[in-house]
Amino acid sequence: MNILFLAAEVADLVKTGGLADVAKALPIQLKQNGHQVRVVMPCYSSIKNSENFEVIGQGAINKDTERQIDYTVKHTFLTEGLEVWLIDCPRYYNRTSLYGDNNQAYFDNGERFAFLSVAALDAAQMLGFCPDIVHCNDWHTALCPMILRLKYDKNSFFKDTKSVITVHNGAFQGVFDRQQIFFIPEIAHVYNDMISQGSYINFLKCGVFYADKINTVSPGYAQELTTYLGGHGMTKNFQDRQADFVGIVNGCDYSDWDPATDKNLNICYDISTMEEKILGKYILQRELNLPMGDTPLYGMVARLTDQKGVGILIPIIERFLKHKVQMIILGSGDPNFENALSDIAGRYKDKFIFVKGYDNVLAHRIEAASDFFLMPSIFEPCGLNQIYSLAYGTLPIVRAVGGLKDTVIDYDDNKEKGNGFVFKEPNAEELLSCLRRTLIFYLEDQIEMQRVKRNAMQVRFSWSDSCAHYEALYKEALAKPRWW
Ligand code: ADP
Repeated sequence: MNILFLAAEVADLVKTGGLADVAKALPIQLKQNGHQVRVVMPCYSSIKNSENFEVIGQGAINKDTERQIDYTVKHTFLTEGLEVWLIDCPRYYNRTSLYGDNNQAYFDNGERFAFLSVAALDAAQMLGFCPDIVHCNDWHTALCPMILRLKYDKNSFFKDTKSVITVHNGAFQGVFDRQQIFFIPEIAHVYNDMISQGSYINFLKCGVFYADKINTVSPGYAQELTTYLGGHGMTKNFQDRQADFVGIVNGCDYSDWDPATDKNLNICYDISTMEEKILGKYILQRELNLPMGDTPLYGMVARLTDQKGVGILIPIIERFLKHKVQMIILGSGDPNFENALSDIAGRYKDKFIFVKGYDNVLAHRIEAASDFFLMPSIFEPCGLNQIYSLAYGTLPIVRAVGGLKDTVIDYDDNKEKGNGFVFKEPNAEELLSCLRRTLIFYLEDQIEMQRVKRNAMQVRFSWSDSCAHYEALYKEALAKPRWW
């Protein structure tokens, strides 16, 4: 199959979250399985070396009209020779960040990402790459299925092309004034309840309404999206497409996340040398000025948002820190959360470290050094960090929601297969009880703890398994009748 894969971020080039990991690993696996794949993303000015990437095409949207917008396509190659097209359009992508500054989204994000969708399809024609499947990801590229149907309905190049959209996070929907898509007149004036939010256009709703097939990144989250509690206001949209909607758990890129080969670690280990894991803990304690020793260490790496459960963690951190424990949190996001965590760090210097920012190397080291990894999410489409934690023998502490409940088995529910700790309700007291449960477990029985860590390290979420599900979804999309 020819697959045009659109994403706002792709790991190795630019990454702010799990979407980037998927947008690299899944296309690589598809390529390894013999498909022709082109990944399309914006050429952000922050991408290192992008000025040196080869230009492979120059195009324009709405050529020879007053709405003409020029762009250039550059390309580069990632692992396994995966080809990435970067849409270069300085007026949209020459910014300091990907989505916004100082926690404020750029005012023209609708325009910026609508342009990515329209330019990707334009570039595919210009470069003669005729896709069987256009695979869109999240709201940023969710207009693409609608553009395919309404702008290209009579176009012979795309006559057999089908679209798939993956929802990595249903809370971000991309709701904009229709003026932001003025340069796609074929869709700018379409009004219907299923794609609108008041007088605004909702990009994600467009994707869910017009794509041939839809998936999200775990069966648990797929089910939750069809409920009123978990549907982020799009319950009806997902319910209406239930026949075309599935959950596929993300794989883990073990070439990046394997403690035996991880280049970011000072000390590598595997299941047979697990006793060495503690050396990584000592080194990290020293680096971050925590007292060195066998104190149970709790790690967390996350965007600091309500979604990640930071709001239920902060009220109980100090009560938990009364015990003989250490905690390291790496992340950035909501300034209120950042300030609260900095305050706590100031009061508990020998127990609690807050590193504000984004640091990939430190993220790997925290995964490897910690005994437990915290993910008390309010909702979680799939979650990658708990999957990495399992691989590193770092027991995840998660809330029973979305992909977390699909990937972690609570030790007290299932002693034999347990590989982490799960709590149910999204409230601070339940989280605190769960944290105390893990502490007692750590203090009472180290031999059993080692066994559970080995359980965790044996779990595998391979991209080849997930990819097989995507290939099946593509085939189902291709088997659907044409829309005109
Ligand atoms: P989400 O995509 O919702 O942010 P995931 O758990 O699916 O959450 O993926 C988050 C990814 O981003 C992981 O690879 C994680 O290590 C990484 N990450 C998040 N915050 C940071 C940070 N502050 N520094 C380094 N890596 C981070």
